[in-house]
Parts: sequence; structure tokens; C-alpha cells
Amino acid sequence: MADSMDFPAQLAALQKQYAMQLEHALNDLKSRVAGQEQDIPRSMLTDIHARLHKLAGSGGTFGFAALSLQAHSLEVTVQTWLERATAPLPLQWAEWKAGLLALGDTLTSPEASLLARHPEAPILPPAGQKQACIFLIEDDPELGVKLKQGLNQFDYKVILFPGFADAEAAISAESPDVLVVDIMLEGQIPANGTQGTASLFARLGYQLPTIFLTGRSDFQAKLAAARAGGDAFLIKPTDIPTLAAHIERLLREREHTPYRVLIVDDDQILSEHYRLVLTAAGILAETISEPRNVLAAIERLHPDLVLMDLHMPECSGAELARIIRFDQTWLSLPIIYLSAEGGLDQQIKALGSGADDFLTKPISAPQLIAAVRARAARSRKISELMNQDSLTGLLKHASFKNQLTHEVGRALRLAKPLTVAMVDIDHFKQVNDTRGHLMGDQVIKTLGQLMRQRLRRQDSIGRYGGEEFAIALPECTLADAEHLLDDIRQHFAEVNFVHDGQSFNVTLSAGAASSEQFSNAADLLAVADAALYEAKHAGRNQVRTATTRKKPAHGN
Ligand code: GH3
Ligand code: MG
Ligand code: MG
Repeated sequence: MADSMDFPAQLAALQKQYAMQLEHALNDLKSRVAGQEQDIPRSMLTDIHARLHKLAGSGGTFGFAALSLQAHSLEVTVQTWLERATAPLPLQWAEWKAGLLALGDTLTSPEASLLARHPEAPILPPAGQKQACIFLIEDDPELGVKLKQGLNQFDYKVILFPGFADAEAAISAESPDVLVVDIMLEGQIPANGTQGTASLFARLGYQLPTIFLTGRSDFQAKLAAARAGGDAFLIKPTDIPTLAAHIERLLREREHTPYRVLIVDDDQILSEHYRLVLTAAGILAETISEPRNVLAAIERLHPDLVLMDLHMPECSGAELARIIRFDQTWLSLPIIYLSAEGGLDQQIKALGSGADDFLTKPISAPQLIAAVRARAARSRKISELMNQDSLTGLLKHASFKNQLTHEVGRALRLAKPLTVAMVDIDHFKQVNDTRGHLMGDQVIKTLGQLMRQRLRRQDSIGRYGGEEFAIALPECTLADAEHLLDDIRQHFAEVNFVHDGQSFNVTLSAGAASSEQFSNAADLLAVADAALYEAKHAGRNQVRTATTRKKPAHGN
């Protein structure tokens, strides 16, 4: 389908194509049944069943809902004949045949396409690179100032309000990116932060990403926060890096990369329709019609979700789901069946083979979009969590290495430089020894958070060892990486950590190497590590880059 056509035009073209094909499919089906009596061969009955099933599944999607229902009812009757393995009675056959021959006779032009109900516009514009603005509603001035100063160190602009009245006036003037609210607001009206937030959102007519701070962790408190539309619930005392990590998560969710969906269906017009619906909603969708290509497509696309037809000629959706699950990598990839299968028994049976859910055809565009969004969002969160180090939220050692291999391959293909850096905290053992292990953890978290903020979304950061981090910077030259790392180094050295009322500072050293010098992941890491060692040796608190010349490329 031509890319130059706009979405409604593409859709109309698809619908027309379907209608033309439908006429042909109906005539074909009728000609098969026309001369038959009730002793019709079983193979023919199976074929008719498959054709009816397909019609029932696709008709509704393209605006032929009545036809879809009729086909479904005819299909169910054939199904019972097939299951009983007995020929239909003459009278049953006559009635069924009359129904089939009349199928589609009352066809009117399709109802306004489901898609004509507009796929929604993107929710919010991307946040861009500007400094994020946080409104903090905190009645305790001491805590308020502490939080504000702490968040300032992470480069957030923070405006502090003692209660809702001032905050509301400011919000109407300039909407913050994230709202942080203490639930207990003594002496303020209302004194209850969740109530205040709920009525604030009701008056504004929209919600803001919201983090609640609280001293209570009981169910009632959480329920109130959930009802008020809270996105996070943090129990005091909250440490600053954790609060900053939640803020960062909310900011990133807003500008997340599009969800990726793989559609597997032998009916190419129908899957093209799903693809258009999802694409128009900002979801990246790809279709395949041959089950044997599914593994390669998953490998290439890394989908957040697979939408799969249950009935395909080469193999069933259930069989295909099992095949996908043979590979451990895809154990947690959600597989959703999309099928005209109405019967609960059939659905339950299909779910037994490793898929996660069932959507029944025909499905309206808004339903499909909502179902896909909700499941893809969850899937992405889970896969992020699985690859995350629990202290810092950065990639685990093994996940980073996988990602790096992927990035190196990409850099070579695109002939763009990739820089790899190793970062290590200086004299960290002393921090642990003099300030305690918990404070040490705070320092590690702070550096992790600082790097996450400084780096771009396409950069990967891994917690490589205890207080050692590895970074992959695609499309970044060694010289640019050196500046960036030095900026992070300076910024980190300026962070004031407070322990027992005493303030102290910590520094880091870093080493970097470029894919223009070394063309495989293992070499890049080794050389960046050697550069880090040089930085340590030369007195720490500095960045070194590998100066070695390009080695001939390895096989990999
Ligand atoms: P250098 O400047 O040469 O890097 O010295 P260093 O003291 O930072 O390096 P060394 O590798 O000798 O010590 C690192 C210490 O980090 C040892 C280990 O106990 C500590 N560590 C590792 N993981 C964690 C962690 O998760 N939390 C805390 N608090 N400490 C950790
Ligand atoms: Mg160290
Ligand atoms: Mg170390």
C-alpha cells in the first residue's frame, strides 16, 4: 500500500479490497455447497468450516458485522457435524444450505469503518531536553528545603509550596512535569494530600504525573493514593536518589519509545488492517503471514507483544506459541491470540499452550489499541525489571553485555562511531569504611541516577561491578564522549553527600574506547578498562581515552 496515502485513504482502500475479495469468497463458497446433499464428503465440510471461520473473523472488522454473525452461526453448525462425525439430517442440511446460499444477500455497504472513529492523537508532546520542573507540596519547611536542594543536585527545577492553594495558582500559570505531594499536610486545607490532589485534578480537568510521600504504608493509605491518580507511593524518609529515579521514570514514560507489536495472521488483508490501526495510534506494528518466519521476525523486531491468529494453514497459533516458548529468551514475551473463536472451552484450551490472553474477532479499533497498549506497557515494564540491577535500576552485567554486542553490530553496519566507557568510583572502600555500607549504597545510586540523566535515551548504562559502571554511547565520537564523561565527573564531584551532619564529596575515574579503534565488544570493554586503569594510576578523578590505533577487525 502506497506510503504517500494518508491513513483514512489507506483504510478506505483496504476496505474496498476486502469488499471485492468478499464477493469472490462468497461466490466460491456457495458454488461448493450448491450441488451438495447431506452426504457431503467430510473433507469438503472441513474446508467449508475453515472458510466460514475466516469470514466470521474478518467481516466485522471491515464493517460487515451482520455477515460476520451469520457466518459464525453457520460455522458453529458445521462444527457440531464435524465433531459428531455423523452426516446431518436432511432437514438440517436443507435449512443450513439455504442459510449459506443466502449469506451476504442483504449486504449493504460497510458501516462507517471502525477506524473512522479516530485513533487518538499522541497524549503529550515529548518533554525535550529542557530542565524538568517539579512542584513539591510539603508543609514541613525543613524537609521541603532538604528535598528541594537534593533534587536540585539532579538538575531538576523544584518549586516548593506549603499547601494546595498556592500550588494551584502556579499550576494554572505553568504546568509542572511532575507533582510531588506529602500526604500529611499539617495545618493546611485540606490537610490530606490525596484528597487535595484528587480535587485539584478534578478542578483542573486533567491529571499530572504524581508521586505521594507518606509516613503510612497501610492499605487504606495506598488506596487513597491510587484513587487520587498517584503514580508512585514512597514511604518517608525517602532518599533523594530514589525520589529522583521515580521522577525520571515518570518523565521517560511520557516520552517512551513506541511499543512494538508483531502480528501473525495468514489473512493478509486483515493483518494489514490491524497494522494500520495500530500504526495510526503510534504503535510500531509489523505483520507476517507465514508462521515459519515468526522466530526471525521476533529476533529482528524485539516486540513488546505478539498478536497471533489461532487458525492458520501451516500450523495452529497454539503450536506456534509453543515454538516461540522453546527459546528461553522469549519466555516472558506476551502472546495474545486474536481469533473468531467464541467458545470459552476453545479459548481455555488455546491458553493452555503458552499464550497469555485472548481477544475475540471482530475487535473494534479502540478496543484493539487499548488492549495492545495496556499489555505492551506491562510487558515492557517487566522486561525492564528483569534486566535491571535492583540498587540502581541500571542494566545488569549480563544484560549490558548483550546490549553492547547488539550496539557494536549496529555501529559497524551503520558505519557510525560507538564509544564504550568504564566508570569507577574512587576510593570507594573508604566511603564504606568511614560512612558505612548504607551510605556507600547511596553514593552508588546517586552516580547511577546522575548518569541516567546526563545520557541520552539511546545510551546504555550497566552496573558492571560493585561500584563500577559501563556505558555504551552509540553515534558518539571518542572526543564527544570524553567531554560528556568529564562533565559527569565534575558534576559528581560537586554532589554534597551528608552523613551524620557531616558533608563529604566523592570522585570518579573513567576510561573510554571507540568502535573506530576496536570492532568487537570484548576488545572495547578491555581497552576502556585499561584506560580507566591509567586514569586511576595517574591520580584518579579524571577521564582517559584509549589512544591505540585501530586493530584489524576480528571475525565477530
Ligand atoms: P579505587 O579508587 O582504586 O577504585 O579504590 P576503591 O576503594 O574504590 O576500589 P576497590 O575495588 O578496592 O573497592 C571497592 C569496594 O566497593 C569494595 C566493596 O566492598 C565495595 N562494594 C561493592 N559493591 C558494593 C555495594 O553494592 N554497596 C556498597 N556499599 N559497597 C560495595
Ligand atoms: Mg573504585
Ligand atoms: Mg572497583
